[in-house]
This record gives sequence, structure tokens and C-alpha cells, in this order.
Amino acid sequence: MKIYEQTELDFKDVLIKPKRSYINSRSETDVTREYKFKWCPRKIIGTGVITANMATVGTFEIAKHMMQNKMFCCLHKHYSLDELIKFITENDCSEYVFLSMGLRDDDIEKIYTILDQYPDKCRNICIDVPNAYIPRVKELVIRMRQKYPDILLMVGNAVTAELVEDLILSGADIIKCGIGSGSACTTRRMTGVGRPQLSTIFECADVAHGIGGMICSDGGIVHIGDVAKAFGAGADFVMMGGFFAGCLEAAGDIITKKFQVNQIDENGEFLIETKQFKVFYGMSSEYAQKTHYCGMPSYRASEGRFVEVPLKPSIDRLLQDILGGLRSCMTYIGARRLKDISKCTTFYRVNTQLNTVFEK
Ligand code: 5GP
Repeated sequence: MKIYEQTELDFKDVLIKPKRSYINSRSETDVTREYKFKWCPRKIIGTGVITANMATVGTFEIAKHMMQNKMFCCLHKHYSLDELIKFITENDCSEYVFLSMGLRDDDIEKIYTILDQYPDKCRNICIDVPNAYIPRVKELVIRMRQKYPDILLMVGNAVTAELVEDLILSGADIIKCGIGSGSACTTRRMTGVGRPQLSTIFECADVAHGIGGMICSDGGIVHIGDVAKAFGAGADFVMMGGFFAGCLEAAGDIITKKFQVNQIDENGEFLIETKQFKVFYGMSSEYAQKTHYCGMPSYRASEGRFVEVPLKPSIDRLLQDILGGLRSCMTYIGARRLKDISKCTTFYRVNTQLNTVFEK
């Protein structure tokens, strides 16, 4: 038995140190960067915030908003071939949209059909397997890179240097990093496996950048400041699901519920408060298995949760908040360009991150 004694860190365990800077205003910062990849010959200019390929946020509707803001969307893998073709032929998806696939034959066939029949449309692919340590992932990466040398290929999920290195050298451009950090994820409870997200980024970004690859930090963004921390630690992209859950454009109906409040009106009746919610669920949850497949196979356990999250404003507003937080962080640390954040970041390790005295 082995144990790593060094304490692993999460976003909540650190704060970013402010530094003297030559930036006078947040408006002087550039929150985009030019992405150049190890294998894919294309260059993309954008902000590396990416919506997770989950059923309620990895949608066409969300993708349109992300594209308009020069940010990315990883579409969920449950769209049919016809739906995907319609979307990619009616919108310009070549830069900011990723198509997802797992290891199932029908997923692979669907993506191959799009790559073969629509070569000038969407060529950003995400091979998404919760556990990329299984050998079939690497085999698929090698096959796809040989068959389609020009695709932008993101692969996940991993949390350690050796797999990041292996998958990049096998043909991946971006490794999606994170196990067990997700808001709708119960993997750590069910399996005991996982790694705190900040330490995952440190290690994986270091090895990826050394060999010309990139990483996408996947999961665990709780506060907007965590996005800056992820970029500061070395992430090239930051994937978020739960943060966007409940926004107006997320898939799903608005659920209205009434709650009795512990206050009485002039007639002596208890006040009733109305709250609105939207559904959000993990893609390995029993709910997802039932909704998108034929139920849960007997050899699997649910590793995701189903929640009703309070209704949020429109996604454009959330994106503006993210960009505002990033610009402000960049001003505090003297990073004029998004690419400079990690060079300019020094973290304090903290015991308490936030003052929550007025939070419920
Ligand atoms: P969030 O931004 O909500 O914290 O994390 C989003 C990430 O959680 C997704 O990109 C994906 O990697 C992960 N995730 C989504 N659904 C599930 C699930 O059912 N189980 C697990 N283990 N992870 C999930």
C-alpha cells in the first residue's frame, strides 16, 4: 500500500495573491487568447470557458450563446445524427462547438459520419469517458488521429501526469482533467476514487504544456473566482456544468413550487413564497440512464445525482459575470492577457476562503 503524504488542494484551499500591476482598468485586459494545438493545425481565438456535455447545458441553445461570446460548448452525446447535421449546417460551428462521443459503436459511427460527410463543418471532437484509464480510450485516440489528422481532439477524464502524457502523445490535443469534482457527481462517494481539482490542474497542465498539449479543467467550479484559480493554476480551458444549470436557456421546463414561510400576514395566515427551479442531473445518474438509455445495467451503480436547482438569469448574464470576474482578477495580478494569468498567479494556501456571516 502506498500513500502520498502531500496535501492535495482544491479551489477552496487557496486564494490568489494581488500584485503590483501596470494595468489601470479592467477594460485594458484581454480575456481571449489564440489557441494553437499540438496536432490540430487550426488556430482558434476565444475564452476557454466551456459548457459541459451534460443533457441540460450541452445543448444547441446554449451553444449559440457560447459561440456569440467566443466561448465553447461541448454538446451532449444524445443528439441524433440528423439533429447534429441540421445544427452544424445551419450555424457556423467550426470553432466553438465540440461534438461528444463515448466508446459505444453507435457514438463512433455517428461522429465518423459527420467527419466524413461534412468535412468543412464541425471538427472539434470530445471523447468523453469518465475513466480514461481504460485501454480502449487510448486505442480510440490513436485510431481517430490516424484517420482524421486535422481534428481538434479533446479526451478525458484523467487526473495524473502519466495518462495526460500518454494520451497527448497518442494524438489528443486537449486532455479533460478531473475525477469526482463535479457538482452532480457521486463518484467519490461510490468508489472512493478522485483527486482535488487544483492539484490535478497543477500536475496535468505542467506535463501537458511540456509536450505541446493542453488541459481542460473539468468540474468543481463553485464560485466565479474558481475560474480564475483554474486558469491561474495552468488550465487552458475550464469546463462547467452545474454553474450554468438552472439558467433560463438550459433545457427543461421551469418548475414552480410554493413554500410556507415562517411569517404571518395581516390576516394571521402563513405567508407563501413561490420559487422556481430547473432540473439538473449527472450523466451517470440513474435518471440519465433511464432517460437516455434503456435503464441502468445490473453491473453499474449510479455515480450521479438528480437535483432541482433554483432558476438563474440568462446565460449571457452568467457569462458576463464570469468575464467580469476574470478581468478583475487579471487587474489584481497584472495579467494583461488571458494567457498570462498562470505566469502572474501566486496562490496563498488558506484555511478560510470566504466570509459567510450573512449567507444563509
Ligand atoms: P460541475 O461543473 O457541475 O461541477 O462539473 C461538470 C462535470 O461533472 C462534467 O463535465 C462531467 O465531467 C462531470 N459529471 C457530469 N455528470 C456526472 C455524473 O453523473 N457522474 C460523475 N462522476 N461525473 C459527472
